[in-house]
Amino acid sequence: MYDVIVLGVGGIGSAALYYLAQRGAKVLGIERFTPPHDRGSSHGETRIIRKAYFEHPDYVPLLHRAYKLWSDLETQTGKRLYQPVGLLEVGPPQGMLIPGVLQSAQTHNLELDLLSSEDFHARFTGFRLPEGYQAVFERDAGFLYVEECVRTYVQEAQRQGAQLCVGESIQDWRIENGIAIVDTDVNRYTARRLVVCPGAWAVNLLRDLKVPVRVVRKHLYWFQNQDARLRAENGGPAFFYETPWGCYYGFPQINELGVKAARHSGGEAVVDPLEVDRSSDPVDQSQVQMFLRTHLPGVSQTTTHHAVCMYTLTPDEHFLVDRHPDYPQVSFAAGLSGHGFKFAPVLGEILLQFTMDDGSCHPIEFLGVNRFRNN
Ligand SMILES: Cc1cc2nc3c(=O)[nH]c(=O)nc-3n(C[C@H](O)[C@H](O)[C@H](O)COP(=O)(O)OP(=O)(O)OC[C@H]3O[C@@H](n4cnc5c(N)ncnc54)[C@H](O)[C@@H]3O)c2cc1C
Repeated sequence: MYDVIVLGVGGIGSAALYYLAQRGAKVLGIERFTPPHDRGSSHGETRIIRKAYFEHPDYVPLLHRAYKLWSDLETQTGKRLYQPVGLLEVGPPQGMLIPGVLQSAQTHNLELDLLSSEDFHARFTGFRLPEGYQAVFERDAGFLYVEECVRTYVQEAQRQGAQLCVGESIQDWRIENGIAIVDTDVNRYTARRLVVCPGAWAVNLLRDLKVPVRVVRKHLYWFQNQDARLRAENGGPAFFYETPWGCYYGFPQINELGVKAARHSGGEAVVDPLEVDRSSDPVDQSQVQMFLRTHLPGVSQTTTHHAVCMYTLTPDEHFLVDRHPDYPQVSFAAGLSGHGFKFAPVLGEILLQFTMDDGSCHPIEFLGVNRFRNN
């Protein structure tokens, strides 16, 4: 019998596995695909990390901790996981993005460069600022190498004694006489505690919570780029724009694939994440191309690569991080709503604390499951 079984070893499960192994737990991770893989929500080279969180200021204390833990992981392994290229954010002054960023920065006293039109055009020559829009630059932001982060957590977890079972599909879990029983298509495993990190499969592995999560298909595109200013090594930043046609974001060029860009808004419903359509969508692609033509005109319209990924959205698009209301020995991080990767270390630490310390020291009440069950 294991002390803990982690169900799903993707972005968050790999971090949980690591922190549990580091604490000395006898821990097993069960995963269908070999991590890191491109069948869930943690692939596609890069993920933005930022502190002035437009989604809600309550995430900021968690982000402070996440930054510290990413940095510790880099120190421990000698690997480069984070690139501090900064983040340029542009939107209407009365929109969702800029007021949200400013509110988080003000509440938590974060450093932010408020850019006048002159500053913008002098500093970010590869970008366009629409008339009447506001721009801010967060220096203490950048991106994470997503696959390398997952790989590192898994390797370090195994080095510290975690066991990993890859290639098995979890059919179900249950609690019997206080013991967790996990059935896969191959084996049965038992443990004292469970940590559930299901990504797009929350509907299956956390179905009894009855939270109506939605999975949507999202596209990532890489575009040929001749504009040297948009290369990371030349100071090209990550970017996020709120436009009348939705939110778009992207990354400076880091390799021969060029500039990566995508549409954050929208997405088509996914019925079965295992069968998600991985072909590109000409409508979505033309929207991203139009965004680039308008705002980063130095990037070519020619795509070099495309990938499909999935967002798992809760009704309010905030995470679901809690202990199971009926089984205190089961905790979970789910419904990360398209913005969860940067939090992987702090979510891993929270899941460790739920599992081994009977409660977390982090301020996460706003992410609890009761907000959906009490209505
Ligand atoms: C296109 C895109 C862009 C994004 N951009 C950002 C960003 O810039 N910044 C940011 O912070 N976040 C971003 N996100 C969100 C972030 O990547 C996700 O929230 C996070 O990676 C999800 O991690 P996870 O562990 O929940 O899911 P996953 O990494 O998908 O892990 C879940 C794992 O569980 C396994 N699993 C599930 N069910 C079973 C089963 N029955 N049997 C065996 N294994 C199972 C799956 O195989 C999978 O490996 C983005 C997401 C996408 C899709």
